Amino acid sequence: MKKIFSKIVSVGLILCMGLAMASCAKKKDMTVQKGKLTMATNAYFPPYEYYDNNKIVGIDAEIAEAIAKKLDLELVIQDVEFDSIIAGVQSNKYDIGMAGMTVTDERKLAVNFSSTYATGIQAVIVAEDSEITDVDMLLDGDYKVGVQQGTTGDIYLTDDVGEDRVVRFSKGNDAVLALSTGKVDAVVIDNEPAKSFVAANEGLKILETSYAVEDYAMCINKNNTELLDAINKALKELTDDGTIAAIIEKYIPSNG
Ligand code: GLN
Repeated sequence: MKKIFSKIVSVGLILCMGLAMASCAKKKDMTVQKGKLTMATNAYFPPYEYYDNNKIVGIDAEIAEAIAKKLDLELVIQDVEFDSIIAGVQSNKYDIGMAGMTVTDERKLAVNFSSTYATGIQAVIVAEDSEITDVDMLLDGDYKVGVQQGTTGDIYLTDDVGEDRVVRFSKGNDAVLALSTGKVDAVVIDNEPAKSFVAANEGLKILETSYAVEDYAMCINKNNTELLDAINKALKELTDDGTIAAIIEKYIPSNG
């Protein structure tokens, strides 16, 4: 009797170990490079991602770091053109794209999105003495508007006003420079980077009315639902324990 019982126990133990090993092996295989979480971003998007002494820092970098730690992976950040992130995730060059990236229905056809971790706003920057006073005026007039190529600002605006009035730049900062030198009449870009661009360039302001409100999330290859689930689980834990809020507050103080 005793013998049978101990046999059952040891068979059970072996089964458990087998399961644990299998799930361990699976976890290691769920990323492009073993033991690493490869994140593609475009590091000219403060305060979500930007260079500080040759290191990419910001809200996205810190949230990704916290997630990687939970998944027992080493975070590797690659700085690429914003416009190439989704294709790179689709072709398994990167595990995730995290770049203040807005969830859109069209992008959802190409990649999966994690739960959202922040809200974005498409803001309008104009010269301080601009005659443009609100979004309707910008859309209705025949103004030229600078955008960052492939962003939702670019996509929505092209839809609303047509190709001819949209001037595309590979970096948001270049669009803002074009505004400073009068080459475009306005720039449509996410609110937080807009604030830092306006702070860094004299004579610019953000219109009080915004163009669109959006959700930011990480994008992940459609076939990698295992990584998607693991990331969402980690994100939930980091949201519940206040880590995400603390990271956002660190970079965007609510002055409260
Ligand atoms: N939120 C915008 C988008 O997803 C811009 C992101 C970015 O420029 N990094 O298109």
